[in-house]
Amino acid sequence: MKPMPTLELWFVTGSQHLYGPVALKKVAEHSKVVAAALDASGHLPMRVVFKPVVTRPDEVTAVCRAANNAPHCAGLIMWMHTFSPAKMWIAGLKTLQRPWIHLHTQFGRDLPWATIDMDFMNLNQSAHGDREFGFIGSRMRLNRPVAVGHWSDDAVQARLGVWARAAAAWHDAQGARIARFGDNMREVAVTEGDKVEAQKTFGYAVNGFGVGDLVAHVRAASEAAVNRLCAEYDATYTVVKAMRKGGPKRFSLRDAARIELGIRSFLKTGGFKGFTTTFEDLHGLLQLPGLAAQRLMADGYGFGAEGDWKTCALLRAMKVMDRGLAGGTSFMEDYTYDLVAGSPKVLGAHMLEICPSIAAETPGLEVHPLGIGGRADPPRLVFDVAQGPAINATVVDLGNRFRMVVNELDVVGPSAPLPKLPVARAVWVPRPDFTVGTAAWIQAGGAHHSGFSRSLTAQSLEDFAGMAGIECLLIDAHTRLRDFQNEIRWNDTAY
Ligand code: MN
Repeated sequence: MKPMPTLELWFVTGSQHLYGPVALKKVAEHSKVVAAALDASGHLPMRVVFKPVVTRPDEVTAVCRAANNAPHCAGLIMWMHTFSPAKMWIAGLKTLQRPWIHLHTQFGRDLPWATIDMDFMNLNQSAHGDREFGFIGSRMRLNRPVAVGHWSDDAVQARLGVWARAAAAWHDAQGARIARFGDNMREVAVTEGDKVEAQKTFGYAVNGFGVGDLVAHVRAASEAAVNRLCAEYDATYTVVKAMRKGGPKRFSLRDAARIELGIRSFLKTGGFKGFTTTFEDLHGLLQLPGLAAQRLMADGYGFGAEGDWKTCALLRAMKVMDRGLAGGTSFMEDYTYDLVAGSPKVLGAHMLEICPSIAAETPGLEVHPLGIGGRADPPRLVFDVAQGPAINATVVDLGNRFRMVVNELDVVGPSAPLPKLPVARAVWVPRPDFTVGTAAWIQAGGAHHSGFSRSLTAQSLEDFAGMAGIECLLIDAHTRLRDFQNEIRWNDTAY
């Protein structure tokens, strides 16, 4: 089964009546074959559904309107098998509100050099049909990626899959609800932002709730439910001795379980897809939610610490994108540096709230004092992160618009064991290197909080930013600081 079984992509092929009914019948047959191949591809995380070939303006408009109104349609894949005069597409594309990708392919892969005639040429003319279609997209300033290559190629299907994941996150964000318990951490700038503009731009709504409303859900957790959840903790993690059954800190784990049950109940009741907390507003909560935030992230909820609702919503989007992929995705913070000569690194972590989906091994469940928040010692999952490529992504509010920044990373792991560090952590080197990657991130205004992923590539995030119509700055192996600074300057004008 597909990892996103409730969603579908519509495969829409454009043509016209110039070539007669026989050619159109062939176009439809071919289009069905391509749609079926994409539907069967393991790269596509959702169903791909063939739609009848469109040949007239009213048919184009009808399929675009139908896509807008189909609740499970996450987006459209468009392909011009033959020539489809693009003025026919203006009205339809004007109304289309779903993301779409232009598949620039051709039904026949190899040119039959010895037998090619004008019939073949007229039936395999995406090379110029897709240029006519591309022109109208550009003339209308429509944001859409172009996937190029034969439809059977692995790389082409992979490109469509990466985009489809972004489309799923976009679909999920429309009408999504994010709950905030408490405000942003006082005096912090980067976690602030315009929630009205965010709703207009991304589709999600952020609203605040009294911590007391959450506390009511925490208090309503039954003893039986707390017992069951603690048994689940025992079975899932390596629980430190003091918190095992009969241990002197078992009460601490039971308090954490109550908080998890309370937050779950609150989120489920209100239909929320993410939440934020702040250590400055814990009135009535015995602990800063640590374990709860970690486990809820692992279940796909967005999370932001210190009231960071932008990172919360971004993380939720990334959690939707990575469904069914290995590697994991987490809330993250650039915490401290190893500035050792020759190979400086970032140690990423947070006070507590790192998602165990990125854990390299079974997490330990430990309890330690926390210097902030003035509450009881919170249990938390402690682990390292497996080595390999990863990304960090952030969205910042520049006052008049949002900017996304994505940095490719290489997780290298700690240089030595960290026996005294009581939090989950990841150690990485930003691309192209520590100096340029870090300088570029800071020049771009990238936050200290990010969505960190070992399962996603930068392309899904760029696709998502395109759907939102916001800037996306990529810091990767090819980034040169001088060019990057110019890109920032030029983008300020462009946006
Ligand atoms: Mn933080």
